[in-house]
Amino acid sequence: MIGLWSESPHWQELLHQEGVSLFPVSHLSDLAVLILNREPSETDAGRIREYIESGGCLLAAAAHATAVWPAHKPAEKRLRWIAPEGDSPLFRNVGIVDIESRGWVLPEASIGVTDSGDKAIVAAPRGRGYCILLPFDVAQVLAGYASGPRQFPAETPRFPYDTVARTGRGEVRRLVANCLRFLLAHTGLPYTHLASVPAGSPSVFGFRVDTDFGPRQDLEAVARLADRVGMTFSWYVNVGAHAAHVDLFSDLARRGHDIQLHCLRHTVYPDYARNLENFKNGEATLSAAGLTPVGVVAPFGEWNPNLNRALEELKLAYSSEFCLAYDDLPFRPVVDGRLGKVLQVPIHPICLGRLVAARASTAQMAAYFRSVIDLQVARREPCFLYDHPERIAQFSDVLAEVLQYGSDRCGSVTTLTQFAQWWQRRERFDWSLRMSDGDIEIQAQTRVDDLSVVLEREDCYATLPATPGDCPQTALRWRPGLKPVRFDPRALAARELSMRLRASSFLRRLRKTLQGHRG
Ligand SMILES: [Zn+2]
Repeated sequence: MIGLWSESPHWQELLHQEGVSLFPVSHLSDLAVLILNREPSETDAGRIREYIESGGCLLAAAAHATAVWPAHKPAEKRLRWIAPEGDSPLFRNVGIVDIESRGWVLPEASIGVTDSGDKAIVAAPRGRGYCILLPFDVAQVLAGYASGPRQFPAETPRFPYDTVARTGRGEVRRLVANCLRFLLAHTGLPYTHLASVPAGSPSVFGFRVDTDFGPRQDLEAVARLADRVGMTFSWYVNVGAHAAHVDLFSDLARRGHDIQLHCLRHTVYPDYARNLENFKNGEATLSAAGLTPVGVVAPFGEWNPNLNRALEELKLAYSSEFCLAYDDLPFRPVVDGRLGKVLQVPIHPICLGRLVAARASTAQMAAYFRSVIDLQVARREPCFLYDHPERIAQFSDVLAEVLQYGSDRCGSVTTLTQFAQWWQRRERFDWSLRMSDGDIEIQAQTRVDDLSVVLEREDCYATLPATPGDCPQTALRWRPGLKPVRFDPRALAARELSMRLRASSFLRRLRKTLQGHRG
């Protein structure tokens, strides 16, 4: 029912994250929604125009739609972000969408607002069909791998911040998904996709510990916290600092904890050779102790294509770096025009240390994490928080409350490795869905036991097991969806960076540049 006009690894991976099954675009009239992701030829533009006039729906970048409607004259502008305004369903559970790319603004736009104050999105009927025109090219935005300082909205004396991906990949995907929901609803069809979390609960919660330079007593305090809340954590070991404590990690592994690799030296290099050596030697030390890692989280959440190459060479299954992505579903980064082999598992990037720097009280810390959890639950997406041993030991009462809240609200707990493995099974589920004569048919070669197909219609949803077979539409159990989380207007104020923050970001970049020139 949804067709993608032109092959694009960025678009295909975004739709794969959503769990949408695509239909071929050879017969336009069979499609409910066409995603036009490249400028069509004059002949094709005519076909597309005809398809929409006769009732088809279109999602496109304003720049690509000009070929279909030459009267449209978008103004080209640098676009930093677009933000929700009012109650448009296109921004349901979506905050500020960081674009940081070229943009095209149309005078007809009426939904959302850009950083320069223009209206952002066109959503309007055209003939018997309907069109949504975005002011940016999704593939171009997702191709950006730059990072920079980003502040997060919070009720704290200062906004907490960290250096994270400049592009809001998760928000771009959620905006696209809302556009697809809206357009399908226009044709009377549900939005149908694979669930983002294992079947049986609204979300899934996990906690990651980067061991960094924590003294042994703090590592032990983290283990006690895990026992106190009845969870097992994902630990990423800084082997350079903690080789002497491998016995402690072996013991934790025996008790069900997930022990993986942070690094040997606590740094990420710009080049391949030093990254390879760093992670290879770290992996060797853990493997010698029987703790063979399959996942890595790189120091400072930094990511670059040469790090990715090194992790691929070491055949690691996944990594997690918020300078590439945060608050998003897992995905494979596109490097040199192809999908990477190392799955990226995003987390939320703000930890206790960042909240201490924001001068937060303990009550404000707990409130901040609760709001992150609530938002991920409303999105029916996983929620992963992270921290370091010293801060965990210092604020273990706050964290105990937060972890309990996260487990209760999400309804289930996991480790990053378990979730990455579940996601790999989800990736391999090759399926399509047909709706005819009151029947829904899931076509697939295999089945995945703990995976659901979700159908969403208005504010309700129904699920089916991800198993080949038929189901009469009347047998679907429609349930009310979760209430969306309202946009926090403090997010707009958080986009203004102070001189202090700009200066510290400049110094960080300078340090990285100098490191690149050292042998
Ligand atoms: Zn670290």
